[in-house]
Amino acid sequence: MIDKYGLIGKKLGHSFSAQYFNNKFRELGIEAVYDNYEIPTIEYFREILNSNPTLKGLNVTIPYKREIIPFLDAVEEMANNIGAVNCIKITTDGKCIGYNTDIIGFQQSLEPLLNKEISYQALILGTGGAADAVEYVLQTLNIPYQLVSRTEKEDILSYERLTEDLINESLLIINTTPLGMYPNVDSKPNIPYKALTNNHILYDLTYNPAETAFLKEGIKKGAIVCNGLEMLKGQAEAGWKIWND
Ligand code: NAP
Repeated sequence: MIDKYGLIGKKLGHSFSAQYFNNKFRELGIEAVYDNYEIPTIEYFREILNSNPTLKGLNVTIPYKREIIPFLDAVEEMANNIGAVNCIKITTDGKCIGYNTDIIGFQQSLEPLLNKEISYQALILGTGGAADAVEYVLQTLNIPYQLVSRTEKEDILSYERLTEDLINESLLIINTTPLGMYPNVDSKPNIPYKALTNNHILYDLTYNPAETAFLKEGIKKGAIVCNGLEMLKGQAEAGWKIWND
């Protein structure tokens, strides 16, 4: 029987993963298939396992990265620390182990952009699930950061409070909001872009379009820019290793 992999989420119309893995299987002559499993609630997870006995691995996307955890037999430390799982290994004895490969994908794609001579301080725009993975990586790399949100809270700044000085000294700015994602390609986080310099790194977790309105502001100033595609490929490959280890 053919090995199965797949993605669970609520709406998977434009998912990158199925195309990525099925191309990989074709190119490498691997006898396997990667399917999308759209489920209306996380309770359907067990049904997917029961009706697909050859499943070896799953990815998990919005809105189930947190909700999946009580359904798993074990959760690896990094995923446990941020309370989010986006990758599940299904062992030969049917156990489900949760991992977070967003962390691995983000770290692998960020590190080559950093200049070792510079002591970065960062701004993280948005405070959702992806921001948790970004925070974890910045902590690992000892990069101090400030979270920015539409809602001001203790230790979290609102966009209205972002000064040009703060932008100027925050040489790493990471957009984890969905602003600018297709089809809303003209939207971008509300920050004082005119304070950007060619010493800045702008990282957008969105990858469609490749050049978001946020990244375009960085390009205008000669900043280093990076979209979310490398992160996405990095998390996919990290998942593949976990499933086949
Ligand atoms: P999310 O939880 O739905 O949203 C992230 C945060 O963005 C929200 O918590 C919110 O923070 C802010 N936000 C949402 N709508 C906004 C708006 N209209 N204006 C300003 N801020 C807004 O999503 P997520 O799971 O963290 O994912 C965020 C983005 O990263 C998505 O576009 C996703 O596709 C992308 N992503 C990419 C990768 C990759 O591999 N490249 C991996 C994971 C996620 P506040 O309420 O604090 O403002």
